[in-house]
Amino acid sequence: MKFTILGSGTSVPHPQRSSSGYWLETSDGSLLLDCGASAIHRMAQENLDWVNLDAIWISHFHLDHIGGLPAFLFGTKYAPETQERAKPLKIFGAKNLRRLIEAFGNAGEYNLLKQPFPVEIIEVEPLEKFEIFGGLEAVAAETPHTDESLAIHLKAENDKTLVYTADTGFTKTLGTLARAVDLLVMECSFVKNKPIETHLELAEAMYLVRYAAPKQVVLTHLYPEWDAVDFQKEVRRFSPPCAIIEARDGLRLEI
Ligand SMILES: [Zn+2]
Ligand SMILES: [Zn+2]
Repeated sequence: MKFTILGSGTSVPHPQRSSSGYWLETSDGSLLLDCGASAIHRMAQENLDWVNLDAIWISHFHLDHIGGLPAFLFGTKYAPETQERAKPLKIFGAKNLRRLIEAFGNAGEYNLLKQPFPVEIIEVEPLEKFEIFGGLEAVAAETPHTDESLAIHLKAENDKTLVYTADTGFTKTLGTLARAVDLLVMECSFVKNKPIETHLELAEAMYLVRYAAPKQVVLTHLYPEWDAVDFQKEVRRFSPPCAIIEARDGLRLEI
C-alpha cells in the first residue's frame, strides 16, 4: 500500500496544512480518504492519478472532510481528462451521504451525479464488512464526533492493514479497531487541554497507541497550535512503543 498525505490540517486556513485528504493506493486500485476543499488540487500537485480514482471515503460531513467533493464532481463532469472515463467512481460514507451530495447538486442545479462515467453512492452500516474495490476490504466503526462520523479499517489483498480514525473524541473502540494494524492514521487535533470533547489531544492519542499496539502511527488533523511546539519532543514524553510520525502535506509512506 502506498499512502500519501494531501492535507494534514483542519478547517482553519493554514499555509502548510491543507484540510483533510489522504490518498491510498494498492496494486488493485486507489482510494481517497476524505475530501477537504484543497484535496482536489493537492491530488494533482502530488501527481496522483485523480482521473482514474476508484473510490472516495467520506468519514463525516464536516466541510473540511467533504467540502471538496462537490467541487471534484463538478470538475470531473467537465474536465477533458475524464470525458472518456468508463469505470465507475464509488463514494462511500455514512447514512444520508446521498442526501447531502444531492443537496449540494440541487443548490446550484449542478447535476453532480450525472457524469461521463457512473457514480455509485454507498451508505455503509457500522461494523458490517464491505468491499471498496476487489482486493480492499473495509469495516467502519462509529466515533464520538458527529452523529454520522465513522473510523475505517482497511485490509488489502496482501493482508496489510490501515485504520483512519478521522475526527473523533476519545473512545477505546478505536484501540480495538486498530489492534496491531500496519498503519494507524489518527487525529490528534490538540497538544493538551483540548477545548472540546469531540477531538483528541496527545495524551489520549498515545493511550490509544499503547492499547492498539499498531506497527506505526501518523498523527494528523493538527490544529495550528501544533506550530508552536516541537512535535517529537512532546511525543517522547510518552515513551512511544512504535514510530509516531507527524503528518505533513506531501508525506508518503509505503506500508
Ligand atoms: Zn476535521
Ligand atoms: Zn469534524
